[in-house]
Amino acid sequence: MGTDATPPADAPPKLSVVVPCYNEALGLDALDRRLNAACAARFGGDYEIVMVNDGSKDATWEGIRRLAAANPRIVGVDLSRNHGHQLAVTAGLQMARGELVLIIDADLQDPPEVLGAMVDRIEEGYDVAYGQRIARKGESVFKRGTASLFYKLLGKLADHEIPLDTGDFRLMTRRVVDQLNAMPERFRFIRGMVSWIGFAQVAVPYERDARFAGETGYPLHKMIRLGLDAITSFSTLPLRLASLLGMVMGVFGMVLLIWAISVYFAHGTVAGWTSTVAVVLIMGSVQLLILGVFGDYIGRLYLENKRRPLFIVREVCGGTPPPPPAAA
Ligand code: UDP
Ligand code: MG
Repeated sequence: MGTDATPPADAPPKLSVVVPCYNEALGLDALDRRLNAACAARFGGDYEIVMVNDGSKDATWEGIRRLAAANPRIVGVDLSRNHGHQLAVTAGLQMARGELVLIIDADLQDPPEVLGAMVDRIEEGYDVAYGQRIARKGESVFKRGTASLFYKLLGKLADHEIPLDTGDFRLMTRRVVDQLNAMPERFRFIRGMVSWIGFAQVAVPYERDARFAGETGYPLHKMIRLGLDAITSFSTLPLRLASLLGMVMGVFGMVLLIWAISVYFAHGTVAGWTSTVAVVLIMGSVQLLILGVFGDYIGRLYLENKRRPLFIVREVCGGTPPPPPAAA
């Protein structure tokens, strides 16, 4: 496999790499160097790198265009605005043509060199080799704490198993990517969807590095949104919890009622405004909480039902002409 063995323009490459990029201008050159080296080490010239610019506010798109102009293996995709990490990955997966597809972060937190170990597992017959973090460097105690809490909670809630401590860093075979592309849902939690798809999946442990440059594109509110997407996409337990809570509160109410009636017969009057007010407040807030949970699911149903495209591409550059973006 020579490094210059460029495949014919219409043949799909052996490997596609999908990289979502949001305000990553500072780290693009380092990414380009390490990623190309890792791909070439294993695939010679038979790969493509799909870099998706997710509405960055810095010079990320200019950087991607520059890299694509210099290297025919790089395809740049410019989304019309910031669609969010999961949809940027989705856009990249739709453009990717490779027989194998690697998803990797742009900030070099997922070391490109792990690709080799992932390819080994795929060659053993697995369909998905997902990166599992054994250490997280350069992340705050808060981020590590909330992440670990979240994965535990999700593990308890989800209707099927989602592996712990994994991100979207993973190598997948074409049949898995085709299945993923065929899933039209809008609220995408890709690591959950991949594990839902099934086939043989295996963990590849790796150490998560500190961000190479720039800042996280995942502030707290985006983490919460991703968490809610994950839970509502993979569990209806919160809905069922509503009836459980209702039953518990019902029993509680009955006990209070019996107490109130016995007090009436003993003393001729119902004692205590405090308890009345407390019960009304508790019942009221529990009902509102449950309504809120219902509302969240109904809102998502409404948005799913509109069936709008998941992302909009402004421009594509470099590489061989990719297929037209499937507006799923
Ligand atoms: N990202 C994106 N759109 C966003 C936020 C992030 O495409 O709205 C990309 C980002 O460029 C990076 C990956 O998603 O390649 C993971 O994001 P980040 O590193 O900021 O998250 P963290 O590692 O801090 O959880
Ligand atoms: Mg990161």
